[in-house]
Amino acid sequence: MKAVYASNPQKSQGRKYPELGLLYRTEFQRDRDRIIHSTAFRRLEYKTQVFVNHEGDLYRTRLTHSIEVAQIARSIARMMHLDEDLSEAIALAHDLGHTPFGHAGQDALNTCMKPYGGFEHNLQSLRVVDVLEQSYADFSGLNLTFEAREGILKHCSIKHAKDLGDVGKRFINKTQPSLEAQLVNLADEIAYNNHDIDDGIRSGLITVEQLLEVELFAQSHSEVMYKYPKLSGRKVVHETLRRIINRMITDLLENSQQQINENNIQTLEDVRNHSNRLMQYSLEMKQLNQTLKRFLRENLYYHHCVYRMTNRAQQTVQGLFDVFINDERLLPPKYQKNIKKAEKINGIEGRAEVIADYIAGMTDRYATEEYKRLFV
Ligand code: MG
Repeated sequence: MKAVYASNPQKSQGRKYPELGLLYRTEFQRDRDRIIHSTAFRRLEYKTQVFVNHEGDLYRTRLTHSIEVAQIARSIARMMHLDEDLSEAIALAHDLGHTPFGHAGQDALNTCMKPYGGFEHNLQSLRVVDVLEQSYADFSGLNLTFEAREGILKHCSIKHAKDLGDVGKRFINKTQPSLEAQLVNLADEIAYNNHDIDDGIRSGLITVEQLLEVELFAQSHSEVMYKYPKLSGRKVVHETLRRIINRMITDLLENSQQQINENNIQTLEDVRNHSNRLMQYSLEMKQLNQTLKRFLRENLYYHHCVYRMTNRAQQTVQGLFDVFINDERLLPPKYQKNIKKAEKINGIEGRAEVIADYIAGMTDRYATEEYKRLFV
């Protein structure tokens, strides 16, 4: 039984290009399946999460990150009687617009795009599913439901929201997205906090000893050591992390359900019109989570070794952008054609946007190779 305030595929606000319903799959299942079969989804395998793809075979990539997010999102959705398929679809698509080389690539492309309206990766994820995927005879993009698109667009500036029609409205009206969308944001955070600890330790950039200063980690770690005093190495890390994940999910479930009950939420409209998000950690967990995030920022994301890896990435993105904006003849013919079209509508901003599409779509290694072809 679904909750009364869950998203319902039979009451979907629909697709841009109307399609006949299917007998054996719901509209949200169909969204998820289209995402899995997309080109952009396969590219996630070769895009950096934190560690550049070729640094080691065991680190998370955007693809394994997205699968972990989907796993956590499905668990939460099932426990709360929400629509699992919709949550899974949003989770699998949430990073489709990410550039190569993780945050560094992101920041670099953003800097390049500053004079031309900026670059937002959430907006780019939406652009991938709305426009850039080219697989279907009747339309560009994947023609996903409003509900999936709304979930993919996690943040958006007011300036851009105005151009987006239906999915942009909530940023202007300050309303909330569905609970399925809300929970994916948190599943994303639960996934990366924990897998970044795991990858961080594996890489040797952070240590268990350092992490013992972080309360959330220390508490679960001492539980593990109490139960298994002789345990060592990777098993300790994994046993600790699975407890943290479980604790965060449990906290989120209980606290959110309480918010829903206390606010007498009866319909999806109630969810949308509520003054803030109903999916929330308890106050205590919020603080623990903040401390953990700060630790990761200071000790891992800004670690000089990570910075070295990503600094080169920045040069690559910047170099590619500059060379293409100055001479579009260096682009593959398909993009040259797109530039001609985009320039007619949007001038130089249109041209920059096509170049950003090309660069954002690259995998790490494709970007590196392309840079070599042009500069070496
Ligand atoms: Mg993510």
